[in-house]
Amino acid sequence: MTVEYDIDKFHAGLVEHDLIVPVGVQGAFGRGPVFEEVIDRFNARVSEIARDDGAETRAFPPVINRSVIEKNNYLESFPHLCGTVFSFFGKEPAAREMAQQALQGEAWTAHLHPTDLCLTPAICYPLYPTLAGKVPEGGRLFSLLGWAYRHEPSPEPTRMQSFRMREFVRVGNPEDVVQWRDMWLQRGLTLLQSLGLDARSDVASDPFFGRGGKMMATNQRDQRLKFEILVPVISLENPTAVCSFNFHQDHFGSKWGIQTADGAVANTACLGFGLERIAMALFKTHGFDVARWPADVRQQLWR
Ligand code: ZN
Repeated sequence: MTVEYDIDKFHAGLVEHDLIVPVGVQGAFGRGPVFEEVIDRFNARVSEIARDDGAETRAFPPVINRSVIEKNNYLESFPHLCGTVFSFFGKEPAAREMAQQALQGEAWTAHLHPTDLCLTPAICYPLYPTLAGKVPEGGRLFSLLGWAYRHEPSPEPTRMQSFRMREFVRVGNPEDVVQWRDMWLQRGLTLLQSLGLDARSDVASDPFFGRGGKMMATNQRDQRLKFEILVPVISLENPTAVCSFNFHQDHFGSKWGIQTADGAVANTACLGFGLERIAMALFKTHGFDVARWPADVRQQLWR
């Protein structure tokens, strides 16, 4: 079967089958029942694979302490993706004026001022500051699921402004952390391939901003700090990253005062499954009707 890659048709198909629900802003669509079911079932498979790993669950809201964004150098690296929460702090006359302006379609946001919150850009960011101090012998492992925000509106369905990641974060000495990341890279490939996806892994880099960012990206690739698992969803030549595996070395450990049992600065790594992107990869590969997906794929998810 030849698969056709057409962004508009794929978007239209997802909408027609009630998998995604447009809301008038690109990359912020709603999700339909079957789309959610596929995500839930995939996430359950991930939990099953990780069952004996001993991960501690943490859940954070989709907003993050603004000072964490500031201290993590997010504004140096990704100013173009950042979202900040602004609110109204004024009195009644200003509130009336703002409401009138909004009703009349005029500019009104000058009335707003920054709060202590940003939108969470990466699911693991809120975790690191909570780990200050020594981790026990052997390190720690966490399981997270949350919504990430990135300001990149696009008509392309896999490029979302708000999306969910299932993440794991490992904290410990460099050898343990890298070994753990490599193990998950293999686990991730095996899982996605078992679901009939044409998945392969590759060295990758983050979308750092500007000219300085190019050097950071090159450096990241040269040191093989980031890997992705890629699956063709909207293009065969440029497959979509559906999982990422990131070795931060001692970046977060030194920033947030996290130490191993012997007092060294802890290393960290995280990996994340992009839940919407994986669902879209499955719909692209097997069709919009889950009842007609291959039996072995259905068996993996609906067991
Ligand atoms: Zn992460």
